[in-house]
Amino acid sequence: MNPRTIQIHDCEFSTYIFEEEIIARITMLAEQLDKDYAEKRPLFLAVLNGSFMFVADLLKRVSMPCEISFIRLASYQDMHSTGKVKEILGLNEDIEGRHVVVLEDIVDTGHTVHGLLQQLRERNPASVEVATLLMKPDCLQHPLDVKYVAREIPNDFVVGYGLDYNGLGRNLRDIYKIVP
Ligand code: 5GP
Ligand code: MG
Ligand code: MG
Repeated sequence: MNPRTIQIHDCEFSTYIFEEEIIARITMLAEQLDKDYAEKRPLFLAVLNGSFMFVADLLKRVSMPCEISFIRLASYQDMHSTGKVKEILGLNEDIEGRHVVVLEDIVDTGHTVHGLLQQLRERNPASVEVATLLMKPDCLQHPLDVKYVAREIPNDFVVGYGLDYNGLGRNLRDIYKIVP
């Protein structure tokens, strides 16, 4: 596949992971989920906006009975801690006793997923796992066990296939990385 570079805002990006590889990796992930959740009727919780393409391509490849719901995370300053906490918006399902699979675009420091898992566990699900399109293992700052990872990447800023740079780039079919 021919490498391409594009300009987004003030930065240059070059092709990094082509759609063909993304789909191949997602297909393997779907097979794994089908095996692990065959009898569990999982509830997939897709974290918007970044996960939208990943979620569509992943879940049309699974065949177990499942439910799909979409949530957003809003940052707010927790009165009782110094750090930023993310509030879950749009979670209307009762997840008690359910097998929940969180679908994320990318795990970087792990801060987002760590906070999300803490809040979900307070609601007593039967299990919670995370499936992410991308993961930067070198950046992880929490002892997170991310069970399903489509592709690990080094510490580079990427856009495309759902991921944005200041609002742009989500619609790109391939993943691009920033040119330093
Ligand atoms: P974390 O909380 O794991 O540090 O970061 C997770 C969030 O940071 C992601 O959901 C995403 O919005 C953003 N993020 C982290 N790395 C990247 C990247 O390389 N590209 C883009 N577009 N967003 C990123
Ligand atoms: Mg995300
Ligand atoms: Mg973003």
